[in-house]
Amino acid sequence: MRFIETRGNDGIRSTSVTFSEAILSPSASFGGLYIPSELPKLGEDFLHSHINSSYKDLAFDFLKLCDIDIDDTILKEALNRYDAFDDALNPIPLVSIEENCSVSELYHGPTRAFKDMALQPFGYILSSLANKRDEQYLIMAATSGDTGPATLETFKNQSNVQVVCLYPDGGTSDVQRLQMVTEDASNLHVFGVEGNFDDTQNALKDLLASSDFIAKLNSKNIKLSAANSVNFGRIIFQIIYHIHSYLTLIRNSKITMNDKIYLVVPSGNFGNALGGYYAKKMGLPIEKILITSNQNNILTDWICNGEYNLNNRELVQTISPAMDILKSSNVERILFDMFGNTRTKELMDGLSTNGTYQLTKNEIQRVREDFDASYSTDDECKETIALYAKKGYLMDPHTATCIKAYEQFSDKKLHTVIYSTAEWTKFSPTVASALGKECKDDKEALSWIKESMSQSVPNVVDTLFEKSIKHNKIIQKDTIGENILTLV
Ligand SMILES: *Cc1c(COP(=O)(O)O)cnc(C)c1O
Repeated sequence: MRFIETRGNDGIRSTSVTFSEAILSPSASFGGLYIPSELPKLGEDFLHSHINSSYKDLAFDFLKLCDIDIDDTILKEALNRYDAFDDALNPIPLVSIEENCSVSELYHGPTRAFKDMALQPFGYILSSLANKRDEQYLIMAATSGDTGPATLETFKNQSNVQVVCLYPDGGTSDVQRLQMVTEDASNLHVFGVEGNFDDTQNALKDLLASSDFIAKLNSKNIKLSAANSVNFGRIIFQIIYHIHSYLTLIRNSKITMNDKIYLVVPSGNFGNALGGYYAKKMGLPIEKILITSNQNNILTDWICNGEYNLNNRELVQTISPAMDILKSSNVERILFDMFGNTRTKELMDGLSTNGTYQLTKNEIQRVREDFDASYSTDDECKETIALYAKKGYLMDPHTATCIKAYEQFSDKKLHTVIYSTAEWTKFSPTVASALGKECKDDKEALSWIKESMSQSVPNVVDTLFEKSIKHNKIIQKDTIGENILTLV
């Protein structure tokens, strides 16, 4: 597998790069992204022969099919990271919640959100490459709450990589903050930033674009990479679980080979949904991918009307903060795949110059062949959480946005897989409130839900409150650069 660029080539960079190169230096010409020049076909033989495979075996054979330039031993060790999930043999349980609807729980990893699915093996691979090349990398992450803990956890004590993690002070849940500030390893640096997530993210983006900052890093022999889903090293691992869901449905006799299914994906930066799209393109029988959002419903507008418009919106804070995003980075990879690099560059340039672009009628039709979209308000999410709690299934506010889409779109003859992207324990005050109890903090909410709903709280969450705080610096956004340079 080789990688080309969504906005075409600038004549300075190589016209195509390997997987290693794309993950170590993920920024492509004209501000674009790397995408595979072609995708292998899964084929019925591949699917048939993996119906009973373990997740790790499926993942390994899938990666071999992709023919990436990573040694088998490294791939195997990277995939061994799934052994630390709740159940090493079944890291992604598929739970039936309706006759024709199952929930794929992607959150059984160390930080209790789906980010671990990709970041766990990705972190191992990136650090191995850095090691092999004898190069030092800096990963900077701005987080609204889930990416930060997962990035820290995957790179903890890994050689040749340092991580700087920035979270908005006061903008995360207690559990999310504690997951970050109690991390104890000399290669991890965590700062609270005064302001909201947008301020933090914008300050980081400015820094990443600053040639002065990059020159200062280079003078210390440090290169920059990225661990968000602009990095294809994350996307590749997000194709696999869609295949796994399908094969599990066959194994559980919910469907038979070649039956089509719907996927419902709570979306922010569109990495999870993009993985589903690639799986479909590779031949997995998916009828459509249904995208769900909260009130920041720019993706609903894009998929339903072809309009991507940042001008008439302001980011609103919702109870599903991981989807409080307006500039959804992986939409660009869909544009490229459907309309080519010239059109993608034109549209993305339009977005940065005018704050908006509009797809043509034909283009909208093309997008809607693969996608549909809807959004839920906070009140609708809370009602959904309460409704399913009564039926005995507890879901987090992101997962809750999926139910409306399932009811609205699914042709009831086809099976639907909903992706659950976080465990309720990361958002317990919201979940308690949906169940009629206002709690003053996460600790109170966790124990109330534990008692009243007879739920268990995993050790990694329970013990957070006793751990000592290792990072307690809150900084101002214009001092991020100087703070980093004194550390690395
Ligand atoms: C990151 C995240 C999402 C959004 O996933 P994308 O791949 O960015 O679309 C949804 N839910 C939760 C809980 C997340 O952490």
